[in-house]
Amino acid sequence: MQLTDRLNRIQISPTAAVIAAAEQLKAKGVDIADFGPGEPDFPTPDHIKKAGIRAIEENRSKYTATPGIMPLREAICAWHKRELHSSYEPKECVVNVGGKHSIFNVMCSLVQTGDEVIIPAPYWVSFPDIVKYAGGTPVYVSTRAEDGFSVKAAQIEKVITPKTKMVIINSPSNPSGGVVPPDEYERILALCKKHKIWLMGDECYSHFTYDPHKPFSIASVSGSKEHVIIIGSMSKTFAMTGWRVGYTLAPEKLIQAVIKMQSQSTSNPTSIAQYAALEAMRGTMETVPLMLVEYTKRRKRIVEGLRAIPGVTCEWPGGAFYAFPNISAHLGDGPNAFAKTCTELSRLLLEKAHVAVVPGEAFGAPGFLRISYATSIERIDEGLRRLNRFFSRAEAAA
Ligand code: PLP
Repeated sequence: MQLTDRLNRIQISPTAAVIAAAEQLKAKGVDIADFGPGEPDFPTPDHIKKAGIRAIEENRSKYTATPGIMPLREAICAWHKRELHSSYEPKECVVNVGGKHSIFNVMCSLVQTGDEVIIPAPYWVSFPDIVKYAGGTPVYVSTRAEDGFSVKAAQIEKVITPKTKMVIINSPSNPSGGVVPPDEYERILALCKKHKIWLMGDECYSHFTYDPHKPFSIASVSGSKEHVIIIGSMSKTFAMTGWRVGYTLAPEKLIQAVIKMQSQSTSNPTSIAQYAALEAMRGTMETVPLMLVEYTKRRKRIVEGLRAIPGVTCEWPGGAFYAFPNISAHLGDGPNAFAKTCTELSRLLLEKAHVAVVPGEAFGAPGFLRISYATSIERIDEGLRRLNRFFSRAEAAA
């Protein structure tokens, strides 16, 4: 079948591939310690679920305005102002079908053939592919584990060219948990202003940061608005991955472009999900710190557990719910090597140890594994036991 060039430029999400392989084994009755999924294991909070149910009962099941219902656009702006100190108005906000859709719409509105988009690595798997689909070229900047996977403005400056259209900052980061501190983020903003390029801030994990980091939006910096595109999502903060609601905050002209795209593709995000999201924005936030307390405990358990495995090093993630250990000592041809690549090692871990992880190659970071700790302490302990057994056998065999 002859598919389009633009489709041939991208690949199916590698994280989805890992999840599918783990699901296949689970279907055969195999007990998998699953560190694969990038989503909260918590249910959507009750008050939000009830708002969704109420919306169904009240027959709020018709088309809505393409950019989302006005009360939701207003509530997102008010929430973002209250939580992250920005100053957006509803005309600068559009509701999308999840944060991924927000990024897709923005990229297709701004990026075209020949444009370059700067992406710090390790990166979330979808950034490069969405850039490529839009016709652009991803330009990667490597960050180091020793720096907490936090990109520096000076590194970005080195790769800016006349073709640079945008810089993407995802802080806290999926997959590394890296956080860009506010002062560095402001330096990156200054660079973007100087070179007249867009700064996209992906804030999907904004509320899951660990001491000493705090939730921060670059949109809180005065004079940022003309240069900044904020991507937000209900998925992680409110454990609403399946509801599919995200948003874009940006200058009105760009919002109009995104609405135009949306009007010819998805139309409005699901009406009842919008009413649930409205409750998320207006209602109590008490479940968010409760989730953070749990993630904090799990983070300690997983990082300490990983560090105890021979040949594995692991930084403390500054945010999100992923550990990103370096397992390169177990790769290659050396005496402790198990496999040539992380992808191969991940397959072995799934098949032999029944542990699901995502290989670092998927995120532009060969030598690393992404371990999601959005799972219970008991499952974390079980997974760590299996990893320990697996890697100790390697040491013993060496
Ligand atoms: N951005 C990052 C960094 C993510 O990790 C994800 C989801 O995993 C998204 C955006 C998109 O989330 P959603 O489309 O569920 O809102």
